[in-house]
Amino acid sequence: MDLSSPGTVRAIREKYGLQPSKGLGQNFITDRNVLERIVGGAGIDSEDMVIEIGPGIGVLTAELAEHAACVTAVEIDGRLMPVLEETLAEYDNVRVLNADILQVDIGQIINESKAEGQFTGKVHIVGNLPYYITTPIIMKLLEEQVPADSITVMMQKEVADRISSAPGSRIYGAISVAVQYYCSVTKITDVPKEAFVPRPKVASTVLRLQPLGEKQVPVKDEKMLLRCVKAGFAQRRKTLLNSLSSAGGTDKDTVRRILEAADIDPGRRAETLTIEEFGRIADKFSDEHNQRNS
Ligand code: SAM
Repeated sequence: MDLSSPGTVRAIREKYGLQPSKGLGQNFITDRNVLERIVGGAGIDSEDMVIEIGPGIGVLTAELAEHAACVTAVEIDGRLMPVLEETLAEYDNVRVLNADILQVDIGQIINESKAEGQFTGKVHIVGNLPYYITTPIIMKLLEEQVPADSITVMMQKEVADRISSAPGSRIYGAISVAVQYYCSVTKITDVPKEAFVPRPKVASTVLRLQPLGEKQVPVKDEKMLLRCVKAGFAQRRKTLLNSLSSAGGTDKDTVRRILEAADIDPGRRAETLTIEEFGRIADKFSDEHNQRNS
């Protein structure tokens, strides 16, 4: 069965009476080139494990199963379980979990598969993401420091551009800093709307995020860094002095003292700061926090 053919998608929709859910971001890939680019971009080897986010009707899952030792696919929509049972019937290396990716313990899934001897190589996270939760999914993978060797995901082009952007850019934001702190970012390909059924409203991009073995900007407390970044960008038009005090919940005099100790002008805006500068601010906040609690 060629799952990437629009005719197959139509046939599955008819057979199962399946109306793709807009709310769950269901746009299925119908372009074989795109599948090949995602799998090639992820660099999957026959010894490796893949965790797929949102298999849909299984078009990418089947391709992943051809290349990897094992695939665990996490799909929230229970209506797709019988569909996936049919479309993936020929693969004995695929496990489908009917669950919300934001709720599952990915580290535990990896450990269990390893303990069961399902794979001996690397771990890759792959997915054509449900766009309504692109940022929460990426933040979960980063904050939980999921032990993956690569994260290759398709998302709205606009979000991919934001993730890849540099300080000073209009689109540089909290997600840019968070991703670039944890990972190197490589663009695999842009994907036009025509590559999906049903067609999404926006163009897409596949990015490969490669977790950094050694951080370029080591900080004392990564949670503190993320708190500073989120607070800094919470109201991006405000100065750091104002955003860090209102969103961060620290009084203005203390924030001013911390910024000056970090050698950062309190009148600057978050969008102008490099990761290294955010790291300096976070470390001074950590010092302040530790002093108060000692
Ligand atoms: N992988 C398929 C493809 O490329 O054709 C489908 C991709 S579609 C853009 C996103 C998929 O993620 C849908 O199947 C949707 O039901 C699923 N999904 C949405 N929210 C989810 C969640 N919180 N956890 C797991 N899967 C989710």
